[in-house]
Amino acid sequence: MKIAVCVSHVPDTATKINIGSDGKKIDPTGVTYIINPYDEFAVEEALKTKEKFGGETVAICVGDDAVKETLRKALAMGIDNAVLLKDSIYRDSISIAKALADEIKNQNADLVFFGKQSVDYDNSITGQLTAELLGYNCVTVVVGFQLEGNKIIAEREVEGGKEIVETSLPAVITAQKGLNEPRYASLKGIMAAKKKVIEEKPLPPAENYVEIIAMKKPAPKQPGKIIGTDSSAVPELVRLLHEEAKVI
Ligand SMILES: Cc1cc2nc3c(=O)[nH]c(=O)nc-3n(C[C@H](O)[C@H](O)[C@H](O)COP(=O)(O)OP(=O)(O)OC[C@H]3O[C@@H](n4cnc5c(N)ncnc54)[C@H](O)[C@@H]3O)c2cc1C
Repeated sequence: MKIAVCVSHVPDTATKINIGSDGKKIDPTGVTYIINPYDEFAVEEALKTKEKFGGETVAICVGDDAVKETLRKALAMGIDNAVLLKDSIYRDSISIAKALADEIKNQNADLVFFGKQSVDYDNSITGQLTAELLGYNCVTVVVGFQLEGNKIIAEREVEGGKEIVETSLPAVITAQKGLNEPRYASLKGIMAAKKKVIEEKPLPPAENYVEIIAMKKPAPKQPGKIIGTDSSAVPELVRLLHEEAKVI
């Protein structure tokens, strides 16, 4: 079985983000990038599935040279091969999905893992679009995954509980936190990943449907107020919560 896992390269959630001079994209200066946290669950599930059933795993990412760092992280965790679909120009989610779908077809992968969401642009749509373009079944926000022959039994997280669904290969699965405990890359894995060749493929120009016209930072938070330090402050606190904050 060929298992693909699609990974995105995102700013570390602890990094302070600034908007670039064109007002349309983030300024990458001083930003630390990491593998998208949900994609670590996707990588882990791809590895567990290979360990159980055999086959080959491949990590795929659309982006420029910088994303190789994220592909190497997937390799260090144990993924067999990596493909960089190279482009340095902005691509919207559908354009990324088209590039991924073509490569998945080319790889002949019948099981594909994605993260449920990329924590940079939060569209939460690339896996579903790719499945549609491939004509594969798709189960999203998965917290439990079982493969029995051609049959997939998946648990999905829904409001207040879980939903158990059944589908079959070929399929796209988008991973949610709780699906597994991603392994740490071993030193041996890190060293081996450094030597592996990342296959690079140029992409044709993107056909985007969505254009970013501006980015804005959230309004600065108001400073906190200390009303008092003992119980005499309670009436004023209640008044402010009622009249100003309007939360009670
Ligand atoms: C070179 C380049 C420059 C970009 N510059 C900008 C920019 O300046 N501003 C902007 O707003 N957007 C930019 N984008 C688009 C933005 O990075 C994508 O939208 C982002 O990759 C996916 O975010 P999303 O919220 O659409 O993904 P989601 O749909 O939330 O992602 C879900 C899952 O899809 C997979 N996935 C997502 N992206 C990729 C990928 N690139 N490769 C492989 N798998 C992926 C992952 O498994 C992820 O967990 C750029 C994209 C590229 C390729």
